[in-house]
Order: sequence, then C-alpha cells, then structure tokens
Amino acid sequence: ISAVLRGLKFWDSRAVYVEPSGGSHYPIFIGHKLIPQISSMLAGLRLAPKDSFLVCTDTTIAKAQSRNLGMLRHEAGNCPAFKFRAGEIYKNLSSLNQLYTFMLRRRYSRKSCLLQLSGGVVGDMAGFAAATYQRGIDFVQIPTTLLSMVDSSVGGKVAVNHSEGKNMIGAFYQPKAVVCDLDVLATLPDSEYLAGLAEVVKYGVIYDEKFFAFLEQNVQKILARDSEALAHIIRRSCEIKAEVVGIDEKEQGLRAILNYGHTFGHAIENLHHYEFSHGIGVSLGMRVAARLARNLGMISPEIENRQTALLDAYGFPKTVDGVQPDAAWDAMGVDKKVEKNKRVYILPTKIGEVKKVANVEESLVKEAWKAVLP
Ligand code: NAD
Ligand code: MG
Repeated sequence: ISAVLRGLKFWDSRAVYVEPSGGSHYPIFIGHKLIPQISSMLAGLRLAPKDSFLVCTDTTIAKAQSRNLGMLRHEAGNCPAFKFRAGEIYKNLSSLNQLYTFMLRRRYSRKSCLLQLSGGVVGDMAGFAAATYQRGIDFVQIPTTLLSMVDSSVGGKVAVNHSEGKNMIGAFYQPKAVVCDLDVLATLPDSEYLAGLAEVVKYGVIYDEKFFAFLEQNVQKILARDSEALAHIIRRSCEIKAEVVGIDEKEQGLRAILNYGHTFGHAIENLHHYEFSHGIGVSLGMRVAARLARNLGMISPEIENRQTALLDAYGFPKTVDGVQPDAAWDAMGVDKKVEKNKRVYILPTKIGEVKKVANVEESLVKEAWKAVLP
C-alpha cells in the first residue's frame, strides 16, 4: 500500500498507518477537502473499477452532508447511494438484508467496493456487509462523526445488533483506507461531538499523559472545533488506537484497556435501556473508575481530581439519575466483556497508564459509584 501511495504525495502526508497483528495494514488520512479529491486515492489504492462503487450512508447524513455526498458519488464514477434509516435501532440484520438485496439486484460483483460516508452505526453495519457480501469485498470508511473518526473506524470490528444483545453478529474485517475529512464535522450536533470527545479523553488517560495535557491546554479550541486542534486530537487518538490494536487485534490482552470507563458506562446505558449517549456513559464511567482506583490506593486524590477537572471543563455531566449502586452492580454483570463471572476493571495507575484489576470487593465498587450520584 505505501508503495502505491508514495506516488500520491498529497495523500501520504496525511496518513497514519494501522498494522493489525493479523496482517493487512491500511492508511488513515486526516485533513480538509479530502472527499472532493478522493478519486485519486481510490485509483492509487487500486480499488474497484469505476462502475462498481457504492456509497452507504444514512438518511440524516444524506441531508446534512448532501454536498459531500454528491461529491463523493461524483468522485466514484457517479455511483449509486444506499441510505439506511438513521438510528441505532436500525442497526440490524433486516436493514443489512435490504442492502444485500440492493447490491444483488444491481449485480455488484466480488470486485466492487463500498464507500461508507457515515458515523459508527452505518460504518459497523456496512462494514459487516463488506465482510460478508459474496465472501468479502473492499470497503473504505469515510467517518462523519468524531466518534467514528477516533474509534469505530479504526480496529476492524464490524457488527449489527441482535434483539438479544448489542453488536452480537459481527466480524473482524479491515477497511482498505479510512478518510477523515474534517469538513464533514461542521454539521455534527454538539451532543454528538461531545460523545466523541469522551473517547478522546479516554486515550489520554489510558496511554499518553502528554496528550492529556494537550487536552487540558486547548479546551476552548477543541470545543470550537478549531482545525489544527481537531486534526491533532484525531491523529493522536487514531495513533493510540492503532498501536493498541496493532499489538492485539482480537482482544486477547492489551486491547481491553480501550474499555476504560466502559464497564461502568455500559451499566448506565443498560439501566437507561440504551436511550443514553454512549459517550456520556463513558465519561461518567471514567469518573467511577478513577474513584475506585483512588479508593484502592492506586492513584492519589490529585490524579482523580485532574481527570475530573478535565471532564468538567469540556462540559460533561457530573452526575447521572436513575442509577443505584446495587442495580449498577447487577447491570455490570451482563456486559459481554465480563470474562466468565470474573469481573475485571481497567483502572488508572496514573494519567497515561491503566491496568487490569480483578477481585475487587463488591462493597468497594458500589462505594465508587458515589462519584456520579446526584
Ligand atoms: P451514529 O452513526 O448513529 O451517528 C450519530 C448521529 O449523528 C446519527 O443520527 C447520524 O445520522 C448523525 N450524523 C452523523 N454524522 C453527521 C454529520 N456529519 N452531520 C450531521 N449529522 C450527522 O453514531 P456514532 O456515535 O458515530 O456511532 C455509534 C456506533 O458506533 C454504535 O453503534 C457503536 O456500537 C459503534 N461503535 C463501534 C466501534 C467499533 O470498534 N466498531 C467502536 C465504537 C462504537
Ligand atoms: Mg466506546
């Protein structure tokens, strides 16, 4: 891949490379006005012949980003667009089946390529379609939310939900490239932007104190979606996720650190019947995790306070309603990442480092929930 891209200077200067332990590596491009010139990248990567691209998106993005959608279709040889209905409730096999039917009726072959102009919902869903359509076709992620730029587009997990559980039907399948065109973020609602920022803060806490300090020093710029600050946080987040996933593609060890804040966050989402923002859940979950680490003597109060101050500065909620420690304890047990009844917590040892901790007493965990109770 890099040999091909070397001829494409414009593209290569924006690339972060992901090399999953499983093999196939791919570039993540970050910059402005990438969609209007994407045809050169598609050609450089020798993706499908001109007549076999398909753009996947959702109905909301199709409206908000109609210019970029039109541009993308134009760049990909005036290809058709398939629009999923927007929303997590449509991330299921029935929506997927509509896409398969659409593609089969239009005679898309094994040599075709999906271009996903979308957030994580369609990204996961169309990624799974790419993994399974005629045993696998090429796909390119063009994420439109901050969360999908820094998280779901990197790492190769693709899935749909089942009535029995979230992301229960899926695969590991890597895209050929990820194109983060910062211009698409202009129409992203603030609440969705904040949800993505929770994962960005997470990378700082688990892996990189210097990055955490950058987030502390650039609150206003980042909230204002300043171009340079945005490019930096997306690039660094992708690098960190890529590094972790590169070491551990299939979550046998290190990848678990990416779940920092998530065990507690999922309990909140669960108690709110999944009508609660994942990112906000994670931000609250990080508060609980830091409190637990502090109560276990793993970090000083100053470290917890530093994380709290950063989350407060970005405007994340400080408390959550409707979560009692007993119910939260039970809800945490149903998380699919809980290894066979053995509860494992990802807890900070300082800013920039976390470790797995098992056998924590139930009473201590319940005590830690007080960090976010009103
Ligand atoms: P999303 O795709 O639902 O997007 C959020 C909302 O914003 C949607 O209503 C969408 O239509 C709208 N939107 C998206 N981009 C927009 C834009 N540029 N302008 C205006 N509106 C826009 O949500 P998300 O947060 O991107 O993704 C969440 C999904 O990601 C979940 O299903 C989750 O399971 C998945 N996920 C996957 C991974 C992974 O590793 N594969 C990691 C994290 C999350
Ligand atoms: Mg997450």
